[in-house]
Amino acid sequence: MRMLSANFAQDGLGKIILAYRPPQGQKEQHKQYYCYLCGCPMVLLSKELNRGPRFEHDIEWYPAEKLRKCSYYDGKDKGNEQLEKIREALRTLGSLTPVTHWHCVMCQCHYDGPKYCDQCHTGIFSIADAGIS
Ligand SMILES: [Zn+2]
Ligand SMILES: [Zn+2]
Repeated sequence: MRMLSANFAQDGLGKIILAYRPPQGQKEQHKQYYCYLCGCPMVLLSKELNRGPRFEHDIEWYPAEKLRKCSYYDGKDKGNEQLEKIREALRTLGSLTPVTHWHCVMCQCHYDGPKYCDQCHTGIFSIADAGIS
């Protein structure tokens, strides 16, 4: 499970705290930070690994199902979910077979391929021909 870094979090009083501007002289019991989205406890990391101050989810004791609903969740599961949606969309597209058989009601002729009747030189009188497939 992987969570994205956050620029801000809520303190114990529900106040928004910015990572790059943590309040000074804060009472010790208020130095607890929470994700404002999922309520997970967060730790404030200041300038570690050259990445600048940020909040990270303290995921060890927090239920995974709550973390998955959080916008900061960057897990493999979410990737699969998106992939699954794409696959589903492709399946839907695949089941809609394109019409390649036409019947021109003007000339009473049948033809294949692009919607364009050779005899009246237009496709506007052509309808999908369900007879052949
Ligand atoms: Zn969260
Ligand atoms: Zn025609």
